[in-house]
Amino acid sequence: MHPSDPLKNILYVDLTEKEFWVEEKPELFQNYLGGTGVAIKLLLEECPQGCDPLSKDNPIILAVGPLTGLYPFASKTVAMFKSPHTGNLGESHCGGRNAIALRMAGYGAVVIKGASETPIYLAIHGDKVYFRDASALWGMQNSFTVGRIIRENEPNAGFRSIMRIGGAGEKLVSYACVTSETYRHFGRLGLGAVFGSKKLKAIVISGRRSLPIKDKREYCRLYDEIYHKAIESEVMKKYHDLGTAENIMPLNKLGALPTRNLLYSQLEDAEGISGETLASQYLGRRLACSHCPIGCIHIAALREPYEDEAYFYKTTMISYDYELIYSLGSMLGVSNAHDLLRLIDKVETYAMDAMSAGVTLAWATEAQRQGLISERETNGLKLEWGEAEEYIKAIDLIIKQPNEFYQALARGVEYASTKYGGGEYALSFGGNEMPGYHTGPAAHIGFLIGARHSHLDNAGYSIDQKTLIEKQLSPEELVEKLIEEESWRQILSSLVVCFFARGVYQPRVVEETLRVTGFNIDDPKKLGREILEEKYRFKTREGFNLRNLSIPKRILETSSAIGEIDGEYIRRSIEYAEETLIGVKG
Ligand code: SF4
Repeated sequence: MHPSDPLKNILYVDLTEKEFWVEEKPELFQNYLGGTGVAIKLLLEECPQGCDPLSKDNPIILAVGPLTGLYPFASKTVAMFKSPHTGNLGESHCGGRNAIALRMAGYGAVVIKGASETPIYLAIHGDKVYFRDASALWGMQNSFTVGRIIRENEPNAGFRSIMRIGGAGEKLVSYACVTSETYRHFGRLGLGAVFGSKKLKAIVISGRRSLPIKDKREYCRLYDEIYHKAIESEVMKKYHDLGTAENIMPLNKLGALPTRNLLYSQLEDAEGISGETLASQYLGRRLACSHCPIGCIHIAALREPYEDEAYFYKTTMISYDYELIYSLGSMLGVSNAHDLLRLIDKVETYAMDAMSAGVTLAWATEAQRQGLISERETNGLKLEWGEAEEYIKAIDLIIKQPNEFYQALARGVEYASTKYGGGEYALSFGGNEMPGYHTGPAAHIGFLIGARHSHLDNAGYSIDQKTLIEKQLSPEELVEKLIEEESWRQILSSLVVCFFARGVYQPRVVEETLRVTGFNIDDPKKLGREILEEKYRFKTREGFNLRNLSIPKRILETSSAIGEIDGEYIRRSIEYAEETLIGVKG
């Protein structure tokens, strides 16, 4: 690391005392790079064992990495916290402008401790930190409006990022997210609720520093190589053209698209919500995170007539991608793009995780159909597949929480099914709702053993797709592959680069970027494994136990892309993962 590199600086903010200070920790970054690697070390240090995730003791850690602001795709910030949704590791990555703003403000990481008694937002402009009164913003449920107001009141347009919560975070919905630059999110595991519990409505961060480079010639050569590899690659073209929404039709064809709470793995009229339909009928613009030459963010323009005036239309810009289409579309039996976009907009307005919201509503629909809950619980709603209007009202009620049922839905599907039954079709994996891949056992084992219980941890779904052509792996071989992939991803998320660029950031390129940025890591793969084990150390410290994981029966009942899934195969895989990751022999 160059001696004047601001990456070594950690900004500590105490919301209780309204104090801040900076500590230099160059060795922490030299040893763990940044992002995930640094954040997990800080979380282990700052989060008291067993603390209530919604108490002032739970810290929020934001971290960027050595490539941030220097190389293409190094566009993400890692957030770590104790998750109010699962009770263990909370980790979420977000693009937009926040990563660059944070590093240009002069920091590699920010640690936010304590809680304010009154609503505030933090404004970090370079070395100045302000605790602004947010009383007028508190109660404002619409995360877009919050962003708009802060934009008017803060300096440094173009160099700043505004991360904020909506109604879900204020109401402590355990899967509330934090929205950044309107269309990007710290989506999963409830960072929004942690903001809400601290009465922290938003963080604005800006900076205008520049970054030192020792060998400019080598830096430019490597930059060009990465840039050209990316813009000339077919995979990146796909992300730009249709985005991840392109996956709807192929996954549906394979029988891997979870539909109606995974009663089915194909949606009969999937075309209506396909990437092709959305792009040809609704695409309004594409956006990119800072320092990204691809721009995979697809924004639909939804035009709706005003009720009381003829020929007057309201146009709403709504970002969409595969996961939102799956969770609020096929999972709820919604196959009409107009309805789907209205549902996405509702969830985005309140700033809640779309996957958790959709999967929870899918369970509620089945529970109502089976008579486990009635209209008494649902406040008169009749949840039914494809009925977007009822789902929109249900989302409003998850925020209002008028009774115990909606309070339960606000804590996700695992909690709600424990209270009302229907656990066999509650699609929860380690407490987190299912991502949209019913490709085969590897996807589900990946969700179960992944440190975040996310498809992004280890991409088991791509192993399933290879299994379609190659032989099925033994449980041990499969787990080894998943752990190897997840370990390598710890390096990418410590650098911090967008996972969509993982094909470009191969080990040789990573090693070269580290050399150019002044990092000396002997064995990045070994470091990746160490970081993953540190994440598991936090999870087990907070009570997570692979042995206690429940496998939703539904995934064994509905045929996947590669046929029926064997529960015994999953159990053996989990046992092996426990031996390998935690060293517990079966
Ligand atoms: S590929 Fe998409 S998510 Fe990744 S950095 Fe670019 S715009 Fe952001």
